[in-house]
Amino acid sequence: MALPEEFLRELRSRNDIENVISGYVHLRRRGRTLVGLCPFHGEKTPSFTVYPDTDSFYCFGCQAGGDVITFIKRMENLDYIDAVRLLAERSGLQMPENRFDPDNSKHDLRMRIYAANREAAMFYYNTLYKKEGAAGLDYLKNNRGLTDRTIRSFGLGFAPDSMSQLTDYLVNEKKFTVRELAEANLTIRSQRGGLMDRFRNRVMFPIIDVRGNVIAFGGRIMSDEKPKYLNTSDTPVYKKTNNLFALNKAKGTKEDKFILCEGYMDVIALYQAGFDNAVAGLGTALTEEQAKIFKRYRKKAVLCYDSDEAGQNAAMRAIHIFDKQNVETFVVKVPDGKDPDEYIKRNGKDGYTKFRMLVDGSKNEVDYFYDSVKSKHNIQTTNGKLAVLTEAAQFLASLSDPLKRDLYTSRISEDMGVKRDSLERAVEAELRVVDQREANAREREVRKVIESINETAAMPQMKAKSKRSGKAEEMLTAFLMVRPEYASRAAARLSSDKFSMPFAKRIYECVISRVNEGKNVGITELSTELDLTDGERSKLAKMVADLNEQAVDLSAALCDEYINVVLTESEKLTVNELSERSDDDISDYIKRRREQEKKRKQQQ
Ligand SMILES: [Zn+2]
Repeated sequence: MALPEEFLRELRSRNDIENVISGYVHLRRRGRTLVGLCPFHGEKTPSFTVYPDTDSFYCFGCQAGGDVITFIKRMENLDYIDAVRLLAERSGLQMPENRFDPDNSKHDLRMRIYAANREAAMFYYNTLYKKEGAAGLDYLKNNRGLTDRTIRSFGLGFAPDSMSQLTDYLVNEKKFTVRELAEANLTIRSQRGGLMDRFRNRVMFPIIDVRGNVIAFGGRIMSDEKPKYLNTSDTPVYKKTNNLFALNKAKGTKEDKFILCEGYMDVIALYQAGFDNAVAGLGTALTEEQAKIFKRYRKKAVLCYDSDEAGQNAAMRAIHIFDKQNVETFVVKVPDGKDPDEYIKRNGKDGYTKFRMLVDGSKNEVDYFYDSVKSKHNIQTTNGKLAVLTEAAQFLASLSDPLKRDLYTSRISEDMGVKRDSLERAVEAELRVVDQREANAREREVRKVIESINETAAMPQMKAKSKRSGKAEEMLTAFLMVRPEYASRAAARLSSDKFSMPFAKRIYECVISRVNEGKNVGITELSTELDLTDGERSKLAKMVADLNEQAVDLSAALCDEYINVVLTESEKLTVNELSERSDDDISDYIKRRREQEKKRKQQQ
């Protein structure tokens, strides 16, 4: 995929890698490099490293690596060309007009789905105010107490109770194809094979991403039919575990916390009452991906779940998921077992003030946990106390912040009237269990990331004739990428057929020829010219990372040293190769090797 060089250079210079990655990862400076906790795998000590000098990043934990485009591609879950597009948009750069993009058809389909969703949202909104939408409007206004303004602000609508009104409209009036509508999950096939609207007789909630695209819908049925809520299935533009409802609104809030609710209606009711910082999951329990997205915008979460048992269990799960992402959680307890929507409605004009008090007075996760576990057991009895302490030890051990754990070990032991030591020992025992479990989970996760990199293409061939030569070939090639002024010196002494590793050889050849032509040899340019796979990009980033980590002084002497190793090693034959030679060949070879060794020793 040949994006113009000029364009790539401009894109790279406008999207400084340190700057872009800082938007997602908290980076700490360490000499000429920056380190942070890897966003692609769970870890407690940073192995994710950014190299501003080479415009690259590499994670020594999970092997994810590449340039700024690769980073955005993985982080935002995009394909290559859309990652480029995002960076171009972000930096006000015009995308080159092209017909040479093999991803174009995928990209085009996504654009069509966005367009179809936008038309569908408009259709639903207009229907709401027609006779066919009366039931929906009645529900939203009279039952839920929403104003026209709120309805418009969220673009709520109504899917008519008809077989294929939307499909017919989008095909006949708006010229979408049935395939596009099916891919958007707006149209489905009935059992008899006819076309059918996916959503019928439902109040519609469009789901809008942070860039303003309508990516999916949730629909609430107006009859007693099941399911009560129906959502768009995963499509090329939407994955429910990777999105949060109303994030497009909340991202602009001045509040330092987001309120996480269970349903759309809670978010909308809160918004109407004056809270512009509420979001909700999309019909699933909070997922790790959602927590990661959440964390990009805010580091504090106020959980506002139903007070029934299911809601409280969901809150505990969310606490653990957020804790792993270092998001601090608070839990709102709505009085009388009400959900926020009901609570605000009941309080009428005072809705805002009352709910504000609940939010401001919300307890942090440990206090919340401790209160609820205490209320579960009779702490006047020894058994009850023991049960509370056992559960507390487990909970404290699960916290990732040691300071918080320590503080609450003191506080809880005091409150329960036991020695701090005994609770501490119980916590430590639990910690060992947790550590082992987490170590196992981390290992699984790292394996998953490595597999996902490899999935897109087999890793470049790694078999080098000897470890020594393979390493030197990689180091030399990376060296020349950083110091292209030595390329002619290397080319004069070392032809690429001396290389034992196909991948390093390919890069070396490309670097030499590009330098000859006066072109850039950064990761971005090389990956683009050679059309590298994700696995190969990681490999290239690793070569550069290794050089950055190991070589202090990028001097001519170092360059020569690498060249010498590659040359010497290329002379050595492997056992396999030896067995294929005639005896004469072998004695020749041994003689030559002896002379080389002698010469080498004399030089030293
Ligand atoms: Zn990693």
